[in-house]
Amino acid sequence: MEFIDLQAQRRRLQPEIDKAISEVLEHGHFIMGPEVAAFEQELATYTAAEHVVSCANGTDALVLALRALGVTGGDRVVVPSFTFAATAEAVALIGAVPVFADVSADTYNADVESVAAAVEAHRAVGVIPVDLFGVPAPYDRLRAALPDEVFLLADAAQSIGGMLDGRPVGSLVDVTTTSFFPAKPLGCYGDGGAVLTQRDDVAEEIRSLRVHGKGSHKYDNERIGTNSRLDTLQAAILRCKLTILEDEMQRRQVVAARYATLLGDVVAVPSGPGAVRSAWAQYTVRSDRRDLLSGRLKDAGIPTAVYYPMPLHRQTAYRDFPVGPTGCAMSESLSAEVLSLPMHPYLGEDEQQQIADAVLAALA
Ligand SMILES: *Cc1c(COP(=O)(O)O)cnc(C)c1O
Repeated sequence: MEFIDLQAQRRRLQPEIDKAISEVLEHGHFIMGPEVAAFEQELATYTAAEHVVSCANGTDALVLALRALGVTGGDRVVVPSFTFAATAEAVALIGAVPVFADVSADTYNADVESVAAAVEAHRAVGVIPVDLFGVPAPYDRLRAALPDEVFLLADAAQSIGGMLDGRPVGSLVDVTTTSFFPAKPLGCYGDGGAVLTQRDDVAEEIRSLRVHGKGSHKYDNERIGTNSRLDTLQAAILRCKLTILEDEMQRRQVVAARYATLLGDVVAVPSGPGAVRSAWAQYTVRSDRRDLLSGRLKDAGIPTAVYYPMPLHRQTAYRDFPVGPTGCAMSESLSAEVLSLPMHPYLGEDEQQQIADAVLAALA
């Protein structure tokens, strides 16, 4: 059994992907070839974003977006403590200061009160809510709770394909970043990322920053940029995968609903459909006997993972950064109790039954 079965997807798309790769090998434009712009356009259509600017990975996407939003050294940016390190890392990398806020028990996403308190206490210039495990953060409630001048930058590395009230991730706030790391809901066969934005000025700035700060004249660079481009080969692969993303999203909803039915009585399962459509990057349950459960599942041949075993504000590189006034107690509890089960669009009913039987037996 696979935790995320990328080979099942490959079998489905093999002729298209092989053809797309060989076309790139034929034309030879490996950097910024025509597939890059085509993919950006197609992803913009799918997400209802005005602009998609691709880059080398999801961490760079955050750095580029923060720079385009005008964040500079010493600025404070609030991030949840219960997330992947890159969210806070991007802030620290440009010399700004991540301030940690707590998450809520129901969605594991940024808690609105905790974020608002951290912004006020630290005079933060912005917030990076994370769509953890695929669930869009409560952007509308965050916007209403924060001063107008405080930006919201969505870290949607795990949530492309998700929706909030029928609006797709990528169009929920002015600036969104994502990652095409292979295991993400829309993944390539290597590293990749993008910034999605409704703002012309942000898109233009990032198009320059990702190629060494280029201006209209190639050898008169206007800003200190970087080298952060999406490979043409990866764009070609992503174009194939994008054609089945919506179908995969539907399948993920079915898989998640089956898990909720099978497991809802014995472990805390993520909340089901409603105004939110999760991209179900992970199916993460919660149990106060997490370590026993993961051990028993391993013995039964079922792969699981702990995302994330330590909240950021406790990690070596981050523990000296400030924590907001509410503290991060929920982030600490979740780190001790969460367990992610196999989740992908091709997970069969039999396999899910097998997983559920093993969970029930372990906790009996
Ligand atoms: C994966 C991930 C990133 C970073 O993406 P990379 O492409 O690996 O750099 C950032 N934030 C979150 C929440 C992620 O899950």
